[in-house]
Amino acid sequence: MADKGRAAIYKGLRIPMEIKEYPVPDPEPGAILAKVTVANICGSDMHMWRGDMNLVALGAVLPTILGHEAVGRVAKLGPGISTDSAGQPLKVGDRVTWMYYYPCGRCPACLKGRHAECPANPFFQGPCELPPHFTGPYADYYYVRPNHTIFKVPDELTDKMVAPANCALSEMIYGLERVNFRFGETIAIQGAGGLGIYATALAKEMGASKVIVIDGIPQRLELAKAFGADEVVDMKQFKTPQERATRVKELTGGWGVDVVAELVGIPQAIPEGLEMLCVGGRLLEIGNISLMHGTFETDPAFMVLYSKSIIAVVMYGRDSLKKALDFLVRTKNKYPYEKILSHSYKLEDINKAFEDQEKGLVSRAAIVM
Ligand SMILES: [Zn+2]
Ligand SMILES: [Zn+2]
Repeated sequence: MADKGRAAIYKGLRIPMEIKEYPVPDPEPGAILAKVTVANICGSDMHMWRGDMNLVALGAVLPTILGHEAVGRVAKLGPGISTDSAGQPLKVGDRVTWMYYYPCGRCPACLKGRHAECPANPFFQGPCELPPHFTGPYADYYYVRPNHTIFKVPDELTDKMVAPANCALSEMIYGLERVNFRFGETIAIQGAGGLGIYATALAKEMGASKVIVIDGIPQRLELAKAFGADEVVDMKQFKTPQERATRVKELTGGWGVDVVAELVGIPQAIPEGLEMLCVGGRLLEIGNISLMHGTFETDPAFMVLYSKSIIAVVMYGRDSLKKALDFLVRTKNKYPYEKILSHSYKLEDINKAFEDQEKGLVSRAAIVM
């Protein structure tokens, strides 16, 4: 094994990332060193790169290494580690994927098993100047801290299928569980990006009686259909929030949907989604992760009188990633997962990958080491 590895260093806003080499660490007891094979650019990475999610305000120490949706191979196993988090034997060379954030294990949220709600989670982007250096996956290696949640990747799945499972798919699984989505219910999905496409397939497989997907980009609506959408609402045809809400009600016999999943990230999508819900409906809020996009206005009496609720979710549960891998194995021949990652870039072209994704030339870029 090489004694050094490359990493794309992020020093701050509007400073191009630069490639730097660090010594390859030996894992401490319980830790694992992974050789990264694929790391995607997710919407949250774009927020950090663009600056509408302020890493320093979230407590990150710069420079750091961005990225979180990744897959790799075991390069070194620390003393005392011989299995993954599901008890499957683990050896050097096995393909693995790991939970990208680190719940503290010692707070009221962790005590209740609600690891996604641990206040330590936003600090997953560790500093890279100090050992073990490889704290983010836009690099040759990633250091998986001791006793962390990590899973062996089933042989049937390709790296490109697995990398987005680590964020988008796992978060959708967790979100649909938190909003208590049930067999026979209807759902409207606002936004057919990565999250929306996974939400479509999940809702179908969970027994949805109707999945309605709303977006304004024709290719995304086509992809939603390939992933099982029963109906699509084209924003070019239904231009106003009122027209779209009316359309969703028409498609559900005038009643409204049981669940809306807001995956767009625009505050105004929330009142629009509430309007689409039936009496007693639940809105799953995931999209608005940036603190800089403003607020929305809604009359709370409208929510009380019609028993509508909003459930907001960030991250995912400790078991979600394993469920995501199993789901991909079960449905890999049914849905065109390979279409979710559109383009591949080398690590040295990472700045171009971010620029292209910002311009909309690429939907979800994959950095391939
Ligand atoms: Zn905690
Ligand atoms: Zn992500």
